[in-house]
Amino acid sequence: MFVWANIIVFALGASIGSFINVVVYRLPAGLSILFPPSRCPHCLNQLQPYDNIPVLGWFLLKGRCRYCRSHISLRYPVVEAITGFLFLAIFGIFSLSLQTVGYWVFCSWLLTLSLIDMDTMTLPNSLTQSGLVLGMLFQTLVGLLSGNREAQLATHLMTGISGAVLGLWLFGAIATVGSVVFGKTAMGGGDAKLAAMMGAWLGWKYLLLAVLIACFAGALVGGCAQKWGQKIPFGPFLALGSLIAVFSGEKILYAYMQLFFH
Ligand SMILES: [Zn+2]
Repeated sequence: MFVWANIIVFALGASIGSFINVVVYRLPAGLSILFPPSRCPHCLNQLQPYDNIPVLGWFLLKGRCRYCRSHISLRYPVVEAITGFLFLAIFGIFSLSLQTVGYWVFCSWLLTLSLIDMDTMTLPNSLTQSGLVLGMLFQTLVGLLSGNREAQLATHLMTGISGAVLGLWLFGAIATVGSVVFGKTAMGGGDAKLAAMMGAWLGWKYLLLAVLIACFAGALVGGCAQKWGQKIPFGPFLALGSLIAVFSGEKILYAYMQLFFH
């Protein structure tokens, strides 16, 4: 039973990952996300259902299109596998709960935004805004489903709102630090909206943690990238910080408190 649950969760995550690949490719290009069905970008032949099996499909085709034999990027199965493992990890921590479903949505949005940011150096408003609304909805549902409804609802809504506001406000600070570390154009307006979205999901405490991790990781990688004359997007670091905050934020904050208030 336990093994089957994990296999189903991984398959679900990998399928969502497959859809994320489609969104990442089509959304910045202004194409419809749902039509036409998946097809080879070179010869435009429609993929067979069995070619579309997440992760496995790529290996069965040995990384080449069935019709024109052109290469299919390894990124597709990698994104599918990563999504599958993220879904599994979240399921492992929160088991069958509202948190699990919520964080599945959150990590899908983060992954999509990161990949688009890497490809185009932009974070589409449609995603950051819908992600913020979903985060507030998540806080509302968590509040409604807990014991003392009215008090909890108010608490959770405040968590989301204060997080989102702090996210926008913090951006000024991040942009200042970022401009010192990355040079002048590393931060876009999209980063502030992503931070607001993260705040709605995480609340201000975990948002601060996520942003701190993002700045450290970004400074580390950004320092190297600057030597090679490469510009790097900040979105993926914010996403990484968010995931770490979801997975072990509680432990990190607890350890931090122990350090100062034991
Ligand atoms: Zn083809």
